[in-house]
Amino acid sequence: MGQGQPVDVGRVTAALGGRSVVLIGMMGAGKTSVGKRLAAKLALPFVDADAEIEAGAQLTISEIFERFGEAYFRDGERKVIARLLNGGPLVLATGGGAFMNPVTRDNIAARGVSIWLKPDFDILLARVRKKSNRPLLKTADPEQTLRRLLEERSPTYALADFTIESLDGSHDSVVEAILRRLAACNDDVPPFPRARRRVEVPLGARAYSILIGPGLIDQAGVEIAKIAPRVNCAVVTDARVAPLYLERLTESLHQAGLRSTSIICPPGEATKRYAEFARVSDALIEARIERRDVVIALGGGVIGDLAGFCAATLRRGVRLVQIPTTLLAQVDSSVGGKTGINSRHGKNLVGAFHQPSLVLADTTALDTLSERDFRAGYAEVVKYGLIGDRRFFEFLESNWREIFAGGPARAEAIAISCAAKARIVAADETEQGERALLNLGHTFGHAFESLTHYDSPRLAHGEGVAIGMASAFRFSRDLGLCSGQDTTRVEAHLKALGLPTRMGDIPGFEASADDILAAMRQDKKVERGRLTFILVRGIGESFVARDLDEASVSTFLARELAA
Ligand code: NAD
Repeated sequence: MGQGQPVDVGRVTAALGGRSVVLIGMMGAGKTSVGKRLAAKLALPFVDADAEIEAGAQLTISEIFERFGEAYFRDGERKVIARLLNGGPLVLATGGGAFMNPVTRDNIAARGVSIWLKPDFDILLARVRKKSNRPLLKTADPEQTLRRLLEERSPTYALADFTIESLDGSHDSVVEAILRRLAACNDDVPPFPRARRRVEVPLGARAYSILIGPGLIDQAGVEIAKIAPRVNCAVVTDARVAPLYLERLTESLHQAGLRSTSIICPPGEATKRYAEFARVSDALIEARIERRDVVIALGGGVIGDLAGFCAATLRRGVRLVQIPTTLLAQVDSSVGGKTGINSRHGKNLVGAFHQPSLVLADTTALDTLSERDFRAGYAEVVKYGLIGDRRFFEFLESNWREIFAGGPARAEAIAISCAAKARIVAADETEQGERALLNLGHTFGHAFESLTHYDSPRLAHGEGVAIGMASAFRFSRDLGLCSGQDTTRVEAHLKALGLPTRMGDIPGFEASADDILAAMRQDKKVERGRLTFILVRGIGESFVARDLDEASVSTFLARELAA
């Protein structure tokens, strides 16, 4: 459709199929003004969720904040939005923080199409300055606060179905852009792409996208060709994944005009070793993979780490596309650029940072995963809630059954996890600070893995992490940092879905506190002999503890072994 032609509103209505249009974004983004105009064009009712809340409470939002606090307001906001969406199609303008709530996002995904209004920062600031009734901006430096809020919220806003950016902020042109975007929906651009989500990893020249959704393996050729047309691809995979997905991937590459070869490794952690690194590297050289070409890692974290390390070192670095097929790989190992192999001295001791150019997380590929592997990966999902997002942990407590069963909450949980990892990686790519938080449970977990000789049938990586996270909570509780209530809640959630929480849950585990300490000292997280732990003050409140007294660790471990 040309820019000058009027938009066919009938097509928009057909595309909406009875769903609501939900406008999200920062305060001052123009949601109310745009919403009213859009509703008039679509002949739908318009509701401003904030106005609805104020009318119901007979108080202004500022008054609700002052009298009852933000948590109370957010809870009410969630309920009001759910009620409005249940009441039939409308155009709904939501408050700036509403989309941060995962339950609200799920409700919106089920009944609406979400649109992020993203004007230029200066426009936002000018509009917000004009109004003094924004409770979150009652600070000494509103500009700084607005910037920080925008930075914090953008990765989550980006989970919306569509983003409408505007430089001049004219409401009419934003309405026009929304209508055009919805009218242009067709088989390639579905009206509700939240079935396919996109998370950006903003790393400047090395920025990349993570696409999450069903059927992405069949779309891989098209997506890779967009960033690397006419290249040679080498697919590295393992012998368990190859019969399931290799043919579909190869077919998709060929249809997009990309040549490909494949290299198949044995499945299992033992594949992350020097010999296999050498064999795969030689095979890539024989396949004439050059700098502009693409190595594709199709598999779990083992394949991602090994193929990634081969891509990082081959000709001093060739492009890498991650197609993770385990839950752990989709939410963790495929994102962030850590690649590597194990040494006989410990896990991941030889490796490199090498960011992928693209990550394609096909959510239906998880259907063939064993329940145990799915559960082990889920431990890393829980980790994101425990490190810094209590609300996400609560979402998981309420929705884990649907996540396991493959309902919409699965893609949502993967997207939130990836967005959390993307944010941390963008702030601290090479783990000088905040990124270390991602190691919650890992200092313990890696020691348990090392003491069970990386025998995944006995202890999968994610299971080690689950025991490690529960241990980190118990350790923090014993140090007087965290409440017993939160500790019990974390243990209860992990146990409910069948994850281990104690060393005693590892079959045949025999080690002394000294053995565990010795294994911990081998971990990469050791700095000049000092052990680094991620400890917690509660669910969603983790921090890096670098100067822990070894005697307190030893006493804790002895108590754990005796329990
Ligand atoms: P994995 O790669 O061994 O996969 C687990 C098992 O599932 C394997 O047997 C595999 O063949 C099979 N499998 C994979 N996809 C499947 C599918 N769709 N259907 C059926 N079977 C399938 O293990 P993992 O748990 O994915 O990853 C663990 C590894 O990831 C560890 O080596 C860990 O160190 C690494 N890791 C790396 C990072 C990082 O940032 N690079 C982060 C976390 C973990």
